[in-house]
Amino acid sequence: MLQLVNVGHKALRDYATIATRGLMDEIRRLAEPLEGKRVVHLSATAFGGGVAEINYTLIPLMQDAGLDVEWRIIRGQEEFFNVTKTIHNGLQGAPDGLTAADKEIFLRYQELNAAEFEDDADFVIVHDPQPIGMIGCCPGSRARWVWRCHIDLSTPNPDVLDYIVPSLRTYDAAIFHRRQYVPDAGGLPQAFIWPPAIDPLAPKNMALSAEDAAYIVDQFGIDVDRPLLTQVSRFDPWKDPLGVIDAYREVKRGAPEVQLALVGSMAHDDPEGWDFYQSTVTYAEGDPDIYILSNLNNVGSVEVNAFQVHSAAVLQKSIREGFGLTVSEALWKARPTVAGRVGGIVDQIVDHETGWLVDSPSDCAQACLEILADPLTARRMALRGKEVVRRNFLTPRLLRDWLVLFNRLSGNDTAGADVATVAATA
Ligand code: UDP
Repeated sequence: MLQLVNVGHKALRDYATIATRGLMDEIRRLAEPLEGKRVVHLSATAFGGGVAEINYTLIPLMQDAGLDVEWRIIRGQEEFFNVTKTIHNGLQGAPDGLTAADKEIFLRYQELNAAEFEDDADFVIVHDPQPIGMIGCCPGSRARWVWRCHIDLSTPNPDVLDYIVPSLRTYDAAIFHRRQYVPDAGGLPQAFIWPPAIDPLAPKNMALSAEDAAYIVDQFGIDVDRPLLTQVSRFDPWKDPLGVIDAYREVKRGAPEVQLALVGSMAHDDPEGWDFYQSTVTYAEGDPDIYILSNLNNVGSVEVNAFQVHSAAVLQKSIREGFGLTVSEALWKARPTVAGRVGGIVDQIVDHETGWLVDSPSDCAQACLEILADPLTARRMALRGKEVVRRNFLTPRLLRDWLVLFNRLSGNDTAGADVATVAATA
């Protein structure tokens, strides 16, 4: 059996103060015909990164809505995760392709995982490419299979895309964060477009006072009386931590008191993470005002929350980004947010209205200097950004979208309810 993740319990009624009455009613109405339906989520890791973040909230709420939902983690050794990282990078546009040996490894783990998978669900939701081929090893499955893509597929390496397309064709539906991510290939299943969401009640995002945030951040050695810039993300080249350090150095020339925190967790399905962590440490050249922290320093959800709340500006200087939950997390805390003008980030920030979209370390530095020079204006913009998040990027909306899809795939009438297709408007 594949490892089951214990997601704990959450109650939909707790979200009634955050979601509109109309949305809560819609969720209950859509959930009724789905009572008791079995849903299995499959993903590569229960820790680190956006998929894990989303599932820990979405799954308990799907359960509370009356569905019978579980989340299982596929097995893999380093040889497999090296291949899946090449696939991930290739789908985001990296030039490296797959060798025959890589393909053999990938297929072997699909078969191995399918053999351990109890295929008795009504819906199987496959997150990202790592388990995408298991469907081919489950002939005669009675389930509806849905592929949920969390990555930026706008400029894929065609060879890597061609490798996953035959599997994708056998799905009943595929979901992307943005319309631009739907692959340009024939015979694909119906595509649905909706962005992910953050959980406003989770420890990562729940209200934390400025005093409590400062108290937590202080314990990591940060001088809480001097301004802090923070980026929270996996140690991954697409997140551009080296570009963040360049930007920080430029900020420091105009604002010498500034500090930088790079907070990044180590996901077990990300073998590149360790190397890239090391390169980031080397690049920081022992600067005492740069703090490079990870879950290995006990930075968990509450600590990430504290870093975001305490920061003068939160950065997400990605050069590719499926969505970028960290952007919504920062805006939800009304923090001035500076982020790469890429992928799903542009659906979350309206440039110079709710935050800053940047194209280079230098742009990023200029935005940070503006924020440090006029924090009140920056905060007013961030408050507008918070309203964009409230309307578009909180979990109840995501739950509604999934329920609409399950009903559609079951042939049920959704009485006009539809999924979100969203772009930020201030
Ligand atoms: N995250 C975290 N600790 C870290 C790094 C990331 O808790 O050290 C969380 C972050 O707060 C966010 C998620 O992991 O909720 C990352 O999601 P995002 O969409 O930004 O990027 P992904 O990792 O999926 O590419």
